Amino acid sequence: MDFDDTKEEAAFRARARAWLEQNAKPRASDESGGDPLREREDHEALRDAKAWQARKFDAGWACLTWPKEYGGQNLGRMEQVIWNQEEARFATPPNVYAIGHGMLGPTIMAHGTPEQKSRWVREMARGQVIWCQLFSEPGAGSDLAGLRTSAVRKGDEWSLSGQKIWSTLAHFSDFGMIVTRTDPDAAKHAGLTYFIVDMHAPGIEVRPIRQINGATGFNEVFLNDVRVSDASRLGGVGDGWRVALTTLMNERVAIGAGTGSGRVRDLFRLARGARLRGRPAIESDAVRQRLADFYIRAKGLQYTGYRTLSAISRGSTPGPEGSIGKAVGAPLGQEMASFAMELQGAMGAIVDPELAPQEALWQEAYLGAPGMRIAGGTDEILRNIIAERVLGLPPEIRVDKDRPFRDVPAGRGAR
Ligand SMILES: Cc1cc2nc3c(=O)[nH]c(=O)nc-3n(C[C@H](O)[C@H](O)[C@H](O)COP(=O)(O)OP(=O)(O)OC[C@H]3O[C@@H](n4cnc5c(N)ncnc54)[C@H](O)[C@@H]3O)c2cc1C
Repeated sequence: MDFDDTKEEAAFRARARAWLEQNAKPRASDESGGDPLREREDHEALRDAKAWQARKFDAGWACLTWPKEYGGQNLGRMEQVIWNQEEARFATPPNVYAIGHGMLGPTIMAHGTPEQKSRWVREMARGQVIWCQLFSEPGAGSDLAGLRTSAVRKGDEWSLSGQKIWSTLAHFSDFGMIVTRTDPDAAKHAGLTYFIVDMHAPGIEVRPIRQINGATGFNEVFLNDVRVSDASRLGGVGDGWRVALTTLMNERVAIGAGTGSGRVRDLFRLARGARLRGRPAIESDAVRQRLADFYIRAKGLQYTGYRTLSAISRGSTPGPEGSIGKAVGAPLGQEMASFAMELQGAMGAIVDPELAPQEALWQEAYLGAPGMRIAGGTDEILRNIIAERVLGLPPEIRVDKDRPFRDVPAGRGAR
């Protein structure tokens, strides 16, 4: 493991920081950043996010690893990591590009035709269009390949019908990436096809879902004979599972990198300010024990992250071990938020940012935490991945894998 920047990395970091200092305000040291799902509801925040992305693009700081002809800078993953670290020190608008830049851009680059790349990827880098992911269905989440939304060929077009759910940002999106079933007679993973769909097309209805924290970050999406041109098909007919796997691998890396431990310092600050039996809470042995436990786990995560970074720096691609970050970080974040609310005593029950200590950030984190343990692969699915692909344990039994999908009863099987 190597903790230091190389000479070139240090020079890049200095250039990035200099640009950010001229173009953004530093984040206050005690500012933890807001909840992105709540902010995403806010049209003003969306406008700010688009303006910030355009500014970065024009100055050459957008989508650094992408080829220059598609709006990137042809740089390595390490430069992207350094940029992300530096940008996180500044107060910037919410990131609404995790799906477009983190997942779909790499998928189109891997599977798209030259026309598809020039049609969508460059525009995506500038950030003036928003993308959503239409994968999950009421009966297909962990078992994504069990999806039932159909696509039927009609000349040069396809007709899409069905229902998607948990579609983050769909209510603000211009385009969605969608996986559909085109051949119900083929085995479950073999009968799928991947498309890009215009979210403003006739036949699409988006219904926001109200979440536990009061925000509406994700939606149900109903499709009723939505027409999609064959030119918007990504990959071959029946090759949708392979294309979707590229999206899913990028999703885990994107989500895993964002979860976890950043709030330990905030928790120490809270424990210094909170009172327990008339004394600062941090003086209690029981509180110190919990804080030490959180600190150790957060440091373990941080160093595991550095190990991945060192591998990236040497040119390797993160593998299934990338699932560890989210498998450990999401439960840790939930436990820390729960403990923070205990420390706040009666005030812990208050979610109003005007009244609650630290602008109700811990309450927001607590309410958002169950979602983090589900999105992009549940705890159990991540453990399955680590067991099978990192530790080499025997795979789960998948009885429906080779049967024609038509014969698989609804709601059975595993990814
Ligand atoms: C905040 C958030 C944002 C999301 N955004 C999107 C989005 O933008 N686009 C999109 O398409 N989807 C999105 N999702 C959906 C997400 O991908 C699914 O919720 C997730 O894959 C789980 O699927 P499910 O909800 O159908 O649960 P299920 O798959 O029905 O799981 C139910 C329970 O069974 C367990 N389980 C299932 N299979 C196994 C197994 N083989 N072994 C052991 N346990 C198992 C699970 O761990 C879970 O506890 C989002 C979800 C959340 C929470």
